[in-house]
Amino acid sequence: MKFDVIVVGGGHAGIEAAHAAAKLGVSVAMVLPNPDKIGLMPCNPAIGGPGKSQMVFEIEALGGVMGKLADQTAIHARTLNASKGPAVQSLRVQNERDGYASAARDLIESISNIQIVRGEVAELLVGKEKINGISLTDGRTISATSVVLCTGTFLSGVVWYGKQHREAGRQGEAPARYLSESLKNTGHELLRFKTGTPPRIRADSVNFSVLDEVSSDNPVSSFTGNPGAKVSSSPTWLTHTTPQTHALILANLEHSAMYGGEIEGRGPRYCPSIEDKVVRFSDKERHLLFVEPDGIETSEVYLQGFSSSLPPYLQDDMIRTLPGFEQAVIQRYAYAVEYDAIDPTQLDISLMSKKLPGLFSAGQINGTSGYEEAGAQGLVAGINAARFSQTQAPISIPRNLAYIGVMIDDLVRWGIDEPYRMLTSRNEYRLLHRQDNAEDRLTEFGYSWGLIDDQKYSVVNESIARVKNEVTRLQNLRLGVDLASKILTRTESSYDSLEQMDTFPKSNLSLWEKKKVEILIKYSAYVERSERELESRKDFESLKIENLDIAKVSGLSIEGKQALLKYSPKTLGAAQRIRGIRDSDINALLVYSKGKSRKIDINVSRETL
Ligand SMILES: Cc1cc2nc3c(=O)[nH]c(=O)nc-3n(C[C@H](O)[C@H](O)[C@H](O)COP(=O)(O)OP(=O)(O)OC[C@H]3O[C@@H](n4cnc5c(N)ncnc54)[C@H](O)[C@@H]3O)c2cc1C
Repeated sequence: MKFDVIVVGGGHAGIEAAHAAAKLGVSVAMVLPNPDKIGLMPCNPAIGGPGKSQMVFEIEALGGVMGKLADQTAIHARTLNASKGPAVQSLRVQNERDGYASAARDLIESISNIQIVRGEVAELLVGKEKINGISLTDGRTISATSVVLCTGTFLSGVVWYGKQHREAGRQGEAPARYLSESLKNTGHELLRFKTGTPPRIRADSVNFSVLDEVSSDNPVSSFTGNPGAKVSSSPTWLTHTTPQTHALILANLEHSAMYGGEIEGRGPRYCPSIEDKVVRFSDKERHLLFVEPDGIETSEVYLQGFSSSLPPYLQDDMIRTLPGFEQAVIQRYAYAVEYDAIDPTQLDISLMSKKLPGLFSAGQINGTSGYEEAGAQGLVAGINAARFSQTQAPISIPRNLAYIGVMIDDLVRWGIDEPYRMLTSRNEYRLLHRQDNAEDRLTEFGYSWGLIDDQKYSVVNESIARVKNEVTRLQNLRLGVDLASKILTRTESSYDSLEQMDTFPKSNLSLWEKKKVEILIKYSAYVERSERELESRKDFESLKIENLDIAKVSGLSIEGKQALLKYSPKTLGAAQRIRGIRDSDINALLVYSKGKSRKIDINVSRETL
């Protein structure tokens, strides 16, 4: 077998990688042990959320597929942080778990230049200083110019239920037993990480009548502008832990694989297990839990926020301490998985290995956690694998252009020591990288790389022009004594309220375009300030920071604070080069220093957004 590009894995990174490479016209093999698992959501059946939805909008703007699959199979959609500023507003879509997977599989199978190959990849085949292909455990070999590894949690995976463990990539699936060794033999250093997932509960054993119901947005929201037919068919619900839950966990910590010292891998700090939450936030009397269905006619609900590595018999008791779950029956128990990941500092900005040209990697194998992070990297790696096979220069997404750029820059420049999850606070450009303007920022790139067709390109450009014209119109339209744009900047005003004024000449914009107009006018002052602020950073390389009281600097990440205290850099430039210091930390330092000297604290306005 011979292909231009081999994509190993059919998860969220593999789907985007294979789709993007195929769209660029090369022949693609997608290799995985079981094609029925393409697009499986092993954790919660939801796409989006803070920092993540922005990436899904960006994937869509660049010509990827995650937003389409999510919209197509949505059963609930809600904009989180809707009452806050546009920089942190984020769409979260609940999906039919099986529907998502079958839509993803249908999509891959419908692309004529993708061939699905069933098998476990055992070894990377190396030719003259570059990759040549792969071999499978059944002895077959496949040659290719480039290979994209999207192997998720499977590399030497071990699954834990309390202290019981066995080798597995995730529940019910065999691990990748040989690939770690092959990566080491080709000069790659590996990290060991862990993550966990909550229990799934039999839906008819839950008393939904005592739970708080959360309904979908009205009007409905979507990633693509085409919400699926079932998007408002199901609510989600809220419950919470109780003092009994906490007491039970604290009395049994020694039985937790994570606390018993059995698991050596590091877990995601921002996606902690329930044991972690109870121990780390011991002053909290309750932790909020989200009850999420994985289909309309589901027999199972997912308990977001309750991941655990305590043994199954304890999980039964723990779950019954939650309001509404007194009679609950667990259908699938929570578990943790430990796996190998590539140290991403061994990759360049195109996601190609610096050690083995032609080898790319994307998703959880690069140390990230989450579908959206995986999909975004898959897209970039897939484009570059295709371009490598066509001897074209690689593309990259600059940090100042998109969340995807921030994530890849963070990974390859700074490296990680725990699973990386995207957060709005990681992105110093968050006021500029909003979900509402992803098309404006990225469509041009998707088009020039060959992922966006002429028709979509002109539809998007026409919409961008309509929004721009409307902004100009409102800046010149007098409604009584004030300009329409001035009225819109008032806290209580919205585009909707302008439209209710008799004197307002109506436009024919879509709801989405009206929202964009509103954001552009309402928040222009903040956005301009942020732009100036970022520009001025360039002049501050030699700014002295040695006598700053780090504890007083607001907006620093925990890792950033620790690194600054450890290394005490003298200048901002020196701080910038310390591993663990994010660009958002540099911004926080700059804002604090400037605030001290000029008596202004720009952070205040940033937080209001
Ligand atoms: C237990 C668990 C808990 C999780 N918890 C969270 C969480 O709390 N928050 C969060 O955001 N995300 C969580 N996730 C992570 C989320 O599911 C992943 O980040 C995301 O699915 C990663 O996508 P991926 O494409 O990198 O890999 P996956 O979706 O894992 O896909 C990997 C693919 O590679 C294939 N494969 C692996 N090795 C080989 C091989 N040698 N040969 C051929 N094929 C191979 C597999 O069969 C599979 O198709 C969790 C995942 C698991 C399993």
